Amino acid sequence: MSGSDIPPIAKPNLSPSHPEWPAIAASALMSLDDGIAVIDGSSELILTNVAWEEFVHAQSGMLLPPDGESFLSHFDRAGIHDQAFSSLALGLRAVLDGSRVLFARDVPVTDAGAQRWLQVKFAPLPEGATVTLTDITERKRTEESLVHDAMHDTLTGLANRALFTDRLDQALRRSDRFPASVALLLIDIDHFKSINDSFGHVEADGVLEAMAKRMRDGSRPGDTVARLGGDEFAMICDNISDTRLALRLATRLLTMMNQPILMSHGELDPSISIGVAISSERSAIGARELIQQADTALYRAKLLGRNRVELFDDLMRQEVTERLTLERDLRVAFEKSQFCLYYQPLVNVRSNTVSGAEALIRWNHPTKGLVMPDQFIRIAEESHLIVQLGQWVLETACAEAITWDAHDTTIAVNVSGRQLQDPDFVTHVVDVLERTGLSPDRLCLEITESVLIDDGDKVAARLSQLRRLGIHLALDDFGTGFSSLSYLHRFPVDIVKIDRSFIEGLGSDEDSRVIVSAIMSMTAALGVSVVAEGVESLTQLAALIEIGSVVAQGYYFSQPLEEHAIGARIGSAA
Ligand code: C2E
Ligand code: CA
Ligand code: CA
Repeated sequence: MSGSDIPPIAKPNLSPSHPEWPAIAASALMSLDDGIAVIDGSSELILTNVAWEEFVHAQSGMLLPPDGESFLSHFDRAGIHDQAFSSLALGLRAVLDGSRVLFARDVPVTDAGAQRWLQVKFAPLPEGATVTLTDITERKRTEESLVHDAMHDTLTGLANRALFTDRLDQALRRSDRFPASVALLLIDIDHFKSINDSFGHVEADGVLEAMAKRMRDGSRPGDTVARLGGDEFAMICDNISDTRLALRLATRLLTMMNQPILMSHGELDPSISIGVAISSERSAIGARELIQQADTALYRAKLLGRNRVELFDDLMRQEVTERLTLERDLRVAFEKSQFCLYYQPLVNVRSNTVSGAEALIRWNHPTKGLVMPDQFIRIAEESHLIVQLGQWVLETACAEAITWDAHDTTIAVNVSGRQLQDPDFVTHVVDVLERTGLSPDRLCLEITESVLIDDGDKVAARLSQLRRLGIHLALDDFGTGFSSLSYLHRFPVDIVKIDRSFIEGLGSDEDSRVIVSAIMSMTAALGVSVVAEGVESLTQLAALIEIGSVVAQGYYFSQPLEEHAIGARIGSAA
């Protein structure tokens, strides 16, 4: 067939008055995918197309509903749910009486058991209206999956933090109306960092997925299980009749988690810690406060040895209040310069001379007297005040040490993890050394293992920079963490301070002696020197000398001293 044989499909600018127009318009109407019906002013069907018939499952050619069947019954036959009827009827009336020019509504339909979506549209005609049915199931599914993705964690499929916050708000609002409580469970996988370290990210992700599944299995229908990030999970339990129910749910979860997980190398026995807080029926409580309470309880659960459930109770409530007060007081104390440093001598046990001193912070409280660091360092760390406070300690210790007579003694300063996480830490240290004129090799920074667990790589890089400057680094409380040896390998420390707990038994129990000598020979092999902490008696000292320790610190030699007193001791015989 040549090009000239193709018949014209439509004439350009064919107007409705043209004799062929009705036929062409009708065939176009019939070929549409949308279902179209035309009704008159009293909702009587005048015309429907093929797609409409398919939507309403009418037999072909049966354009009008059987006698006695109204046009609205077609909606029923299309599977539109009853609940949508009244709103559709109202919309149709508004279009027919001219108060609306267009009405459209997305409605769910059940078609042969499957869930689908239709859009129903009414548009006015001079006498009546057109009704359009469009299948929008695909669009709805795409929308739903976008919303789902934005609200869920990709790894575990659990609710993410955004959805969690939203659900918690909703649950608390509901519980305001009905006096049933909401329980919030905050869940942490115990030692997840070491799972990550020993098995790698891929397998650790598998652990997260397995644990997430167990949590979902352990929840009741309607409860929200969420992954808040890393190894932090949460469960929102609605309709909690009493505390016991919440604790029962939490305990059941704990047991479910204790089942072993098969890994590429052997089995893992995972465990979790749970903090529970319950919205009180007496006073309205906000989401933030409830989260803080559950977090406090979780912290307590970890402190008490993990693999357990702790409930936020009145005692914790009191502690929180006290902590907030303390936090405020600490800021005031810092502004009013109420802190001072005490110094404890480090003694060379061979030469019996003071070879250095450790700076230990004290708070000169206006009413409580001298407050010890155990009472406030943790709070200062949690509130970030530690960064300023630590900076002050460093500056003061270096400035005071430079005034002491002996110029070869070291000054040891405790550094908190938060300080080391500060990218400017190295610059600060260099500044202080320059300002005070203290030589870098007279400064020793004491860090604990816990510092090294978080942010390991960045911290290691900073520590290497400090070492290159000639500053000494000591691993404090050595032996109390659970992977001390690997840290010695990874981080450039040149001193370890054997924790007091190992020194305590020296001279009386054999285990302590074995542990201390093992630490000594191991560190000697690595070229790391040792300080024995907390030496209180001659027996301990004698045992240390026998094992071979050189530097020691403890009440046997001296308590921490005020600045004027340490100045006199430095460089002299211990
Ligand atoms: P630490 O670094 O392990 O300091 C040694 C602690 O043991 C000091 O307690 C010291 O007084 C005490 N001690 C020394 N010899 C003996 C002994 O023979 N027997 C006993 N039972 N204890 C002894 P202190 O001054 O109360 O400090 C406690 C902790 O507070 C320190 O432990 C350190 O972790 C922290 N800390 C102190 N000052 C600072 C500071 O300026 N910054 C930071 N971040 N932490 C500090
Ligand atoms: Ca220390
Ligand atoms: Ca220590």
